[in-house]
Amino acid sequence: MDCIFCKIANKEIKSEIIFEDDEIMIFKDVNPVAPLHLLAIPKKHVESILEIDKLEDDLTVKILKAISDIAKEMNMDKEGFRVVTNTGEGAGQSVKHLHFHILGGRKFNWPPG
Ligand code: 5GP
Ligand code: ZN
Repeated sequence: MDCIFCKIANKEIKSEIIFEDDEIMIFKDVNPVAPLHLLAIPKKHVESILEIDKLEDDLTVKILKAISDIAKEMNMDKEGFRVVTNTGEGAGQSVKHLHFHILGGRKFNWPPG
């Protein structure tokens, strides 16, 4: 399958990896929109959060806990940070492999653009 995040997960494409285990990877976004901009993915290919049922419940929880741990490790918890999963074209999803943006290091507006 021609999926850029599957290729990042299996190291066919290089990325700046922040955390990895057998099921999860967290790496730096190549085109950051905040001083801290990471992407958390399951290594298993699912298209978006709409396919979350294709992941084991344990894995879903593990991804969210990894995001929480990384946010604390990188001191994002002090000033606040944002976790986003764009879903579908209307929300600007450009890579069709489930990913959670972890954004920190600046102020974020609400509602988002
Ligand atoms: P989306 O637009 O689907 O919500 O987010 C996709 C994100 O993936 C974008 O922020 C984009 O910068 C990032 N991205 C796309 N290709 C690559 C790549 O090859 N390496 C890394 N590290 N990030 C990528
Ligand atoms: Zn994929």
